[in-house]
Amino acid sequence: MDLYEHQARDLFAEHGIPVPRAEVTESAKEAREFARRLGGRVVVKAQVKTGGRGKAGGVKLAADPAAAELTARQILGMDIKGHTVRRVMLAQPVDIEAEFYVSYVLDRAAGTFLAIASAEGGMDIEEVAATRPEAVARIPVDPAVGVTSAVAARIAEAAGLPPQTVDVLVRLWDVLTREDALLVEVNPLVRTAQGHILALDGKVTLDDNARFRNARWGENAESEHDEPLEAQAAAKGLNYVKLDGEVGIIGNGAGLVMSTLDVVAGCGAKPANFLDIGGGASAQIMADGLDVILSDPAVKSVFVNVFGGITACDAVADGIVQALEHVQLTKPLVVRLDGNNAARGRAILEERAHPLVEQATTMDGAARQAAELALVSNPL
Ligand code: GDP
Ligand code: MN
Repeated sequence: MDLYEHQARDLFAEHGIPVPRAEVTESAKEAREFARRLGGRVVVKAQVKTGGRGKAGGVKLAADPAAAELTARQILGMDIKGHTVRRVMLAQPVDIEAEFYVSYVLDRAAGTFLAIASAEGGMDIEEVAATRPEAVARIPVDPAVGVTSAVAARIAEAAGLPPQTVDVLVRLWDVLTREDALLVEVNPLVRTAQGHILALDGKVTLDDNARFRNARWGENAESEHDEPLEAQAAAKGLNYVKLDGEVGIIGNGAGLVMSTLDVVAGCGAKPANFLDIGGGASAQIMADGLDVILSDPAVKSVFVNVFGGITACDAVADGIVQALEHVQLTKPLVVRLDGNNAARGRAILEERAHPLVEQATTMDGAARQAAELALVSNPL
């Protein structure tokens, strides 16, 4: 799970890393109030889980509270690389004298952690890394030792960072290890005109496998699903990802669902979602899945693609029939059942004879049917 900048900032602050004073809001009006409380002049920053906000116009200086409101109004609702801005952070501006880059990442290939640091941080770090790799120090960190002051001093030295950054490097390692993160990044870490070191931007990726021992991550769960349909699906325990097409997809097994998306795309339509109902395709899961998919106004048809295994096709067909009693089917449903007990499953659906349910025997055929149905009701 990736954190928003303001959440990363809060974690940094908890671990004693200096950060600017800041507030978060969804409202431009409140942005004005927060700006007043922060001293008038503020930096208004889009809160989206992607980098490059600065270059996209999502980070702007506002001279006073009225300008902060205006700027917040401009940034809220903005699209940055496919992410809609729903919140802005208002931060006390600082006079930047130098921008550095520091991060700790898991180096899976090497089976260890890596400290990456550069004295040339800021918005062009990718370009620096690509054109002058020697300006970016990459130092393996032995997790058994961690980043002690001595290790931090070596990292700072290798990257050409001033010695005052050593304390932040040690604390940042604490964030990584104590908070069960896979990645922590500060870009820029700055030296202000007054000589202070401050983390001006933060990126943290938490290790989802450690969720069981981090009860408080639940607090972030809501913001994890910006997409209301994803929140609805998550509440029902469904493995659902919203996409921007018109053919709703339900399948069993992540691999099959992925190839279903491809086949639908191959037929000239676009999948509206990823939904893997997994092994146990019970009536409840089917009903929940249909519920979420049908409440997406973009969906024009639904493609149920099931390969019967341990959960045989007749059980899936029973699930669909029962789901149809709970869910008001408003769009055509194309079902393809194959594998264990496919014939029996098809017979069950045949018998139910719902006017909006069609069956197909092959995956390609079903995808074509679903795509056509979607495109007919939504002519280009
Ligand atoms: P990113 O583009 O998504 O990485 O967003 P950042 O938070 O890193 O902001 C982009 C750039 O805005 C930084 O590299 C800084 O140069 C600049 N910036 C951010 N906060 C401040 C600030 O308080 N004062 C000044 N002068 N510049 C800032
Ligand atoms: Mn940044």
